Amino acid sequence: MIATKESTIDIFMKMVENRNPGQAEFQQAVYEVALAVIPFMEKHPEYKKANILERMIEAERIIIFRVPWVDDQGNFRVNRGFRVQMNNAIGPYKGGLRFHPNVTLSVLKFLAFEQVYKNSLTTLPMGGGKGGSDFDPKGKSDNEVMNFCQSFMTELFRHIGKDTDIPAGDIGVGSREIGFLFGQYKRLSNEFNGVLTGKGFAYGGSLIRPEATGYGLLYFVEEMLKLKGDTIRNKKVLISGSGNVAQYAIEKTLVFGGIPITASDSNGFIYDPYGIDAEKLAYLMDLKNKKRGRISEYAEKYGCDYFEGERPWKIPADIALPCAVQNELDEDDANKLVSNGCLLVAEGANMPTTPDAITVLQKNGILYAPGKATNAGGVAVSGLEMSQNSARLYWTREEVEGKLKLIMQSIHTQCIQYGTGADGKIDYLKGANIAGFVRVADAMLAEGHV
Ligand code: NDP
Repeated sequence: MIATKESTIDIFMKMVENRNPGQAEFQQAVYEVALAVIPFMEKHPEYKKANILERMIEAERIIIFRVPWVDDQGNFRVNRGFRVQMNNAIGPYKGGLRFHPNVTLSVLKFLAFEQVYKNSLTTLPMGGGKGGSDFDPKGKSDNEVMNFCQSFMTELFRHIGKDTDIPAGDIGVGSREIGFLFGQYKRLSNEFNGVLTGKGFAYGGSLIRPEATGYGLLYFVEEMLKLKGDTIRNKKVLISGSGNVAQYAIEKTLVFGGIPITASDSNGFIYDPYGIDAEKLAYLMDLKNKKRGRISEYAEKYGCDYFEGERPWKIPADIALPCAVQNELDEDDANKLVSNGCLLVAEGANMPTTPDAITVLQKNGILYAPGKATNAGGVAVSGLEMSQNSARLYWTREEVEGKLKLIMQSIHTQCIQYGTGADGKIDYLKGANIAGFVRVADAMLAEGHV
């Protein structure tokens, strides 16, 4: 029986590799879903008959375009822009824009594919998409970033719209970039609407949107621990990254009484055994969001250890929250977490844990929850920002955070519904993938062969 299932997955993955050659990240994301969904479809022939999974892995539309711009020295520069419109069965395409030199079509297809499931888990009416560019905002002046954003939007604006496709931020696209992109969209379309989320509060943004992914992650972790009769209080927490998600994951860890002891960037990580408290976090936010400095400067200021070119997973702690980038926690890292007695790994980033690392964590009984469930708070509050923009009103901080908390609790419940095994153990990965799949698949069945 097991052999049949494995071979069905193998055959499916060969097809995926042949149709998407060289796209390692996309293949990895599909494999993770296929492991859960293919056995599920065996018991639900209506999905299999309609070839739903094969249809889901094919993007509905991909746009690739040239982004010409001029730097401060007057040099003519060019980057590549992308928008992957993956699936709009349950709502308009929705997903962030990433500006990073490592952006490729494979990376954006993996992110768009994950986004379809994540958005479905929020239960809000949002399909999945993702976009971005291989442009690197690091080391660029504000003027150069604005020139780039205006050129990027000059092409993208034809393909997006408040009821068609609503981009947001991701790595390298924060409030500064969203502002420039929105300004250019407005000029080109002559419309002021909710076409982008993550906007500043002054021009249609939602309260709590900057905080949402990090906060949502911690709400989810608290639910996971609650089931075990435990809490975050006094637990040591490893966090990677020092961007948007990491900053607010640190902030909410403190609110729950946990002790965040690491943060990182693409150069290395800091280990602060006394904990990153509110004052140190304020310094970190200023360093990263305003001065655009390096995490090593935190170690210089507070006299703690800095590990150049390394990742935080070797430090003993109770909880690990990877919040930086895909594949940042591998098998060796997972083994270190296991031998140091870590209880729980929950993903703030998208696909930060490699498949081999997930196997190590699950085999050793570490609670593991995937990003499509745990980091869905960001897109959930983006969905709430869209609702506020459509209704032309603002909700209070308390209203938005209350809704965010309920959504994260509901995602946790869905994971339990679809991920609890006969032995009573919860497989969050399986639960998230099947729960995300079912809603989109049902909509696709209802909408016919489109
Ligand atoms: P930011 O750009 O704000 O921060 C990214 C962080 O990751 C920075 O600290 C960056 O360091 C670090 N980083 C980037 N590349 C690497 C690398 N190769 N190795 C180690 N560290 C690296 O992005 P976000 O915080 O918004 O996003 C972080 C992750 O969370 C991403 O995977 C994103 O897709 C995911 N996510 C974000 C959401 C959001 O609402 N923002 C929602 C859901 C998921 P450096 O400064 O050196 O570049």
